[in-house]
Amino acid sequence: MTKREKLNKLNRYWQENCICHLKKTATQAVFGDGNAESEIVFIGEAPGKSEDISGKPFVGASGKFLNEMLSTIGKNREDIYITNIVKYRPPNNRDPKPEEKESCNEWLINELKIISPKLVILLGRHSMLRFLPKEKISDVHGKLFTKEIPELGAMNFLPLYHPAAALYNRGMRETLIKDFKKIPKALLKVK
Ligand code: URA
Repeated sequence: MTKREKLNKLNRYWQENCICHLKKTATQAVFGDGNAESEIVFIGEAPGKSEDISGKPFVGASGKFLNEMLSTIGKNREDIYITNIVKYRPPNNRDPKPEEKESCNEWLINELKIISPKLVILLGRHSMLRFLPKEKISDVHGKLFTKEIPELGAMNFLPLYHPAAALYNRGMRETLIKDFKKIPKALLKVK
């Protein structure tokens, strides 16, 4: 089976079996998307309104900004894989609750097992806290970490500010654009 076929099977399973109560209010599950063979996986927080409607991650304003940043490092969405820690939209885009993160956790871990990426880009605080729970995003954005994750083994992480947070904050936006340029170097380092 190819990685894509394995992911399709995983998504079918979890769509049926995920016990997340956000299922009741969301339009649909938003699966990870992109190149299953990618060396880089981006992990966001949770789908927003546009993602809930389309069923694809990062298609709204923050997704467009992300696409612009990808082009500055010579990549596009077909080159990378992108997913979220929570697969269903929280009502009114509120922060996901701990139990909502927990109910989608095995789904995310299995996506990472299938793809086995060289580098995981953690977009924003929620995504960072799943793997680097002791860190503060304002201290560690743009820094490369290698950490042993019980279910996954040694993984390389690069936390960045979330594009949605950086959209309307000029300082954060400039920092994110600068940090984004560290991705190719980080990838070379971990290969
Ligand atoms: N923000 C996220 O964290 N994920 C999406 O898919 C869209 C916006």
